[in-house]
Amino acid sequence: GLRIHPSASIGVAICPRDGLQGEQLISRADTALYHAKNSGRNRYSIFELGMDQELRRRQMLEADMADAIEQNQFELYFQPRLDLASTSISGYEALIRWNHPSKGLVSPADFIPVAENSGKIIAIGNWVMETACRMAAEKLGEGTISVNVSPRQFAEKGFVETLELLLDNTGLAPERLEIEITESILIEDDRLAVAILNRLKALGVRVALDDFGTGYSSLAYLSRFPFDTIKIDRSFVENLKNEEDAVAIVDTIIRLGRALDMRLVAEGVEEVTELEILAARGCHEIQGYLLGRPAPFEHLQ
Ligand code: C2E
Ligand code: CA
Ligand code: CA
Repeated sequence: GLRIHPSASIGVAICPRDGLQGEQLISRADTALYHAKNSGRNRYSIFELGMDQELRRRQMLEADMADAIEQNQFELYFQPRLDLASTSISGYEALIRWNHPSKGLVSPADFIPVAENSGKIIAIGNWVMETACRMAAEKLGEGTISVNVSPRQFAEKGFVETLELLLDNTGLAPERLEIEITESILIEDDRLAVAILNRLKALGVRVALDDFGTGYSSLAYLSRFPFDTIKIDRSFVENLKNEEDAVAIVDTIIRLGRALDMRLVAEGVEEVTELEILAARGCHEIQGYLLGRPAPFEHLQ
């Protein structure tokens, strides 16, 4: 009685190009398979020499990550969101930083996918959630705190219970927490995802759809769940000044979001011109370097 959606990832190594020994061919096919899975699964990859290096880089990051929490190498940065109607800060997005002992600051864009793959994202995600909620409850005034939740963390058994406990322990009002998820959550297992989203809603936690417009069937997802907030992806915002198409798309997203009673937040706003276009079209909030870069709590003005 269960619906199952199997998919296959395939790694390919070619003889004699990639080796003559069975062992080496299998190992290279395995590297290509790893690459296929990392590129989003349900596809094939043919081995290339660079893949070995990429795999080693990932394996090293993965090993270094093992005790990064215990070693206090992670830090949370905060980036403000501006409410255009009241021209006041409405809240902050929490963004993780990794102070690697030898590599320096490692970008989350590099290590979050590795953590997601190895399962380490559960521990890291819990650390982020706990730190963000505590900071918000103790220090960030009245605004909302937005926390990114990755697909694996979201689907982890007990996610909602852990969150509930955390809200209890920190005393943070649920309405002040906004969880940012991407469409990929809804692609993986639709019914389970909607069930979890509904439980979050019941708790009073807000839910935002992140990077909106970058997926391939965004509109369908909006009708499946009543998100509180839509975050318009930076790729549209950066083209607003030069491309009429970008203005038309953003305009449509804003109208749609407004019709569905959702809040619209534009990401990656770097220039006043962009702010003006967004404000004129009815966008509710903006976030971006124009207003402030992500910074440690002590550096927020
Ligand atoms: P995101 O959630 O889309 O976060 C926005 C990214 O855009 C951040 O990059 C932010 O620093 C950057 N940004 C903000 N304003 C501007 C701007 O005006 N111009 C430009 N060029 N960039 C801007 P960051 O901090 O490097 O994070 C990258 C991604 O890593 C995030 O994208 C998010 O997907 C992920 N990430 C970050 N922290 C966490 C976390 O705690 N948990 C999870 N699961 N993912 C996280
Ligand atoms: Ca985000
Ligand atoms: Ca985003």
